[in-house]
Amino acid sequence: MSKPLVAIVGRPNVGKSSLFNRLVKSPMAVVAETAGTTRDRVSTEVIYNDRPLILVDTGGLEPLPESAIEEQVQVQVEIAIQDADAIILLMDVLDGCTPIDDQIAERLRRTEKPVVLAANKSDNERRAHGIADFFRLGLGEAIPISAYHDVGISSLMDALFAALPEQVGPVEEDADIPALAIVGRTNVGKSALLNAILGEERAIVSDIPGTTRDALDTSLLYRDQRLLLIDTAGIRRRGKIVPGIERYSALRAIRAIYRAQVAFLVLDATELVTAQDTHIAGEVADAYKGAVVLVNKWDLASELGLDQASYMEHIRSRLKFMPYAPIRFVSALRKQGIGEALDAALMVFEERGKWIPQNRLQSMVMTSLSEHQPPGKGRRHLTVRKVVQQGVNPPTFTFYVNDPELVHFSYRRYLENRLRDGLGYRWSHLKLQFKGRGKHQRAK
Ligand code: GDP
Repeated sequence: MSKPLVAIVGRPNVGKSSLFNRLVKSPMAVVAETAGTTRDRVSTEVIYNDRPLILVDTGGLEPLPESAIEEQVQVQVEIAIQDADAIILLMDVLDGCTPIDDQIAERLRRTEKPVVLAANKSDNERRAHGIADFFRLGLGEAIPISAYHDVGISSLMDALFAALPEQVGPVEEDADIPALAIVGRTNVGKSALLNAILGEERAIVSDIPGTTRDALDTSLLYRDQRLLLIDTAGIRRRGKIVPGIERYSALRAIRAIYRAQVAFLVLDATELVTAQDTHIAGEVADAYKGAVVLVNKWDLASELGLDQASYMEHIRSRLKFMPYAPIRFVSALRKQGIGEALDAALMVFEERGKWIPQNRLQSMVMTSLSEHQPPGKGRRHLTVRKVVQQGVNPPTFTFYVNDPELVHFSYRRYLENRLRDGLGYRWSHLKLQFKGRGKHQRAK
């Protein structure tokens, strides 16, 4: 079953990102934290009472700076209606029902998607009385919550899970078939690239029944290997997309990222790496997916006086949090570098599927610990009893330690680098989790 995607919508300042952060930090939620992305997250996978979901703060998606607030909110709502499995409409109990809330509700009443209303800033009972005001929206009762003071969060989550359909979206992909997503800003050449891949002479579009779980995915045979290309950003249904949304297709990209094992992050050679490129890359990293950076439009490089070495250096400095991602230079227009791009994705996929023998893993980690002692907090020092490879795709390692709180960001990074070098995970993002005993049991 694919993980349900839940979008938080609402006008600015009602507390969408506070709610997002509260859900991420909730002791009931197990969140895989990634170190190293220097940005505000907009999406995350949360496991709540053993049920996973992907949570998206639509307020943090690609902004449309020149448009009015009403318009921005409407676009967020349209995106949520198109791409989410359920929607949380967040409002502010202090402001009561505002005209924008009315507008949003009017649109949400016309969707089949489950909608849960939450009235934020209901810090106390007196304030919570204000929820009565939202009843006129015709979307059921609002749940009083306070993202800031951690009130009502479990009621909200219970209501959300109750509203979600049992089975959402396409079934989970077959983990043995590499699923690739093409993501990137508008106009970097994603659809041109998709066409170039489909036209690649070694790639045969196959219609083996059962290989395509989503009508928009494409099943390919490349060098006798089956692959799945996941449709992103409505690449092939551009015509149907409402203006504004096309520029704002981040939610679909997020869903594609979570479904994929490896993402092609497409950049435009004629431009420097932008903040938005970094955002998208960050989503890929936070989801622990494989990444291949494709510098497209490289046919224009000589005209622009670009060389690969300096462009690569530029990418590495902008995408510091994914030093492992291979970089390939391509031209979708001239169909150059396409085979190399696919080869890189397969190389990443293969590496992510690798199991390490237990004794090799354990001795590798023990050596790393002795070569660089973990820093302590006061007199307490981190000790590691055991390391176990928990899984592949992403390669996941669980460290059994005395206290996960003693694991510093920089030490986590040190361990990840050592595992990468020592165990031959050159191109992969590794997931490290730390588990303690007793009161420190919560994974970090
Ligand atoms: P998308 O929004 O990311 O799907 O981008 P498109 O595939 O629609 O491409 C945006 C523009 O870039 C179009 O005008 C393409 O013709 C152009 N383009 C795409 N790939 C290349 C390339 O490799 N070289 C050059 N010179 N132009 C390209």
